[in-house]
Amino acid sequence: MFAPLLPPLLPPYWGCLSGFARLVIYANSQNDEGRGSDANEPSAPSPPKQLTREDYTVGWLAMSYIDQAAAIAMLDETHSQLEMDPGNIRNYRYGEIGGHNIVITSLDWEGCKATNAASIADDVYHTFPSLRMMFMVGVASGVPGDVDVRLGDVVVGTSVIEYVGLSAYPDEDSIGITGVSVIPPMLLRWGIQEMEALDEMDPHQVPSIIRRTVHEIGQKNPHIQQYSCRDSLQDLLFESTYKHTKPGKACDECDRSHLVERTPREDDCPVIHYGRIGTSSTIVENAGLRDKLAQLKPALCLESGNGRAIDFFKALMVCSIGDYADSHKNPEWEQYAAATAAAYTKVYLGQLPLSLTKTIES
Ligand SMILES: [Zn+2]
Repeated sequence: MFAPLLPPLLPPYWGCLSGFARLVIYANSQNDEGRGSDANEPSAPSPPKQLTREDYTVGWLAMSYIDQAAAIAMLDETHSQLEMDPGNIRNYRYGEIGGHNIVITSLDWEGCKATNAASIADDVYHTFPSLRMMFMVGVASGVPGDVDVRLGDVVVGTSVIEYVGLSAYPDEDSIGITGVSVIPPMLLRWGIQEMEALDEMDPHQVPSIIRRTVHEIGQKNPHIQQYSCRDSLQDLLFESTYKHTKPGKACDECDRSHLVERTPREDDCPVIHYGRIGTSSTIVENAGLRDKLAQLKPALCLESGNGRAIDFFKALMVCSIGDYADSHKNPEWEQYAAATAAAYTKVYLGQLPLSLTKTIES
């Protein structure tokens, strides 16, 4: 049983609009929030919607519990929990964005990072048989190079490759790639094209919506303020050969004369990059190894642990940059970066016609 094509929170002409028109209305509706109602007028909270497993057409896989919190914060509306079959050990959260019914779960299970990705994917698709598209969203490590990726930026994986043999580094002969490049299914590629077209028309529009969306989640929920503010965060990219001085501590005592000189950006909006994401089963915290991988096959960022899952879930991987895969790696950007990746996914879904998740067979 599908949800109504045009839910009441959207105008009746919504499904007929182009992606761009939907994005403009979406942006304006975010601006207008609360403007039309009397702030002093008490309103009784309505109970959350109760749907069925068959109503959920979009899957959102969070790569960690931090990414999961960011994903939940992005929901326009949350739905009631569903009764699961006996023996189901996974935890799901439900809600909607732009009228699309979304189920969120976390990939931060030990089994998924090793060999169980296929069975987990089977389980999720079996539990939610109407899923039309899947997103894998989380924080990754940026790979500085020809493309100017910075902390908080978003990388949308138009392809994903897997690096292998990293645990044997500095034995460079052990490093390689599997030779398989995973690309998102057609429906998700169509959405990427829409988003790229929006950037082509106005490169500032999507980043500014993301910045505002990230800011708003902190206003709505004070417990996750750190997800929405980057004012106290420093974006430090050190030369590849300069190592971190105090393990386990921030870079306060690292020598700033070894910072890579970069042109300051005009604003603090995250930049959206479309391109290759590299995955591996080993977390990279070594600039030398990072640069070797880039020479082998360049990627905009490195994600650790979920490469197998992307293949089985047929998902679009959306990563944000939380560090530079070097010894200066520290977690202070993680929450903000999780929020920018989640906000991009929200914008992507917001411009997606409802008809795509309601009528097209995947
Ligand atoms: Zn450092």
